[in-house]
Amino acid sequence: MSPLVLIIEDEMPQAEMLRYNLEKEGFRTLVADTGEEAMRRVDMEVPDLVVVDWMLPERSGIDICRELRARAETRQLPIIMLTARGEEGDRVLGLEAGADDYVVKPYSPREMVARIKALLRRAAPEASGPASAYAGVVLDRETHKVTRDGVPVELSPTAFRLLEVLMERPGRVLSRERLLGKVWGGDVFVEPRTVDVHIRRLRKALNKSGDGDIIRTVRGAGYALDAGEE
Ligand code: CA
Repeated sequence: MSPLVLIIEDEMPQAEMLRYNLEKEGFRTLVADTGEEAMRRVDMEVPDLVVVDWMLPERSGIDICRELRARAETRQLPIIMLTARGEEGDRVLGLEAGADDYVVKPYSPREMVARIKALLRRAAPEASGPASAYAGVVLDRETHKVTRDGVPVELSPTAFRLLEVLMERPGRVLSRERLLGKVWGGDVFVEPRTVDVHIRRLRKALNKSGDGDIIRTVRGAGYALDAGEE
């Protein structure tokens, strides 16, 4: 899937201009005009990169930057800070708050796209490799095949993606809403119960090929991959 850029900007003509230029380059985009809306978006789907304006009506871009850096799931997220102020002191403050790069308004869309691409390239080596393994389960992203204790596991594309998301961090509990965002994409309307159905299928497929249930259901909270003893 093409990278998702979250644009946090209250000036709509500016946001639209950036969105237009990014989509022309094949990026997916989301626009949020407040910090609160941005966090809601992030809860649905963690973007690949964030462009955040410093001057926003409620919470400042600096504040949003700090929150993104404080959360485990967005700690590594590439962030570009936008500002009308070009002073050295502001630049330092922006970077200290956790921004990776800093762009002064007015900027050329071409330059911004180039900066975004460069930042994504820098962030890429941190991304997960071609295969993940946990508790005897091996998921191969290149061949789209899964095995458990060496035995092939037949999975639908959705179940594959679901397992891939759960394997990103075993033990971490993901809510149905979060799974919906990560597996189905934030813009699609799917009922949370759909997640339960797919988890059930995934669990059945995994259990057929090995011993022990490695998917933990946490009542009222969600699901996690967990091979530990109950
Ligand atoms: Ca602004």
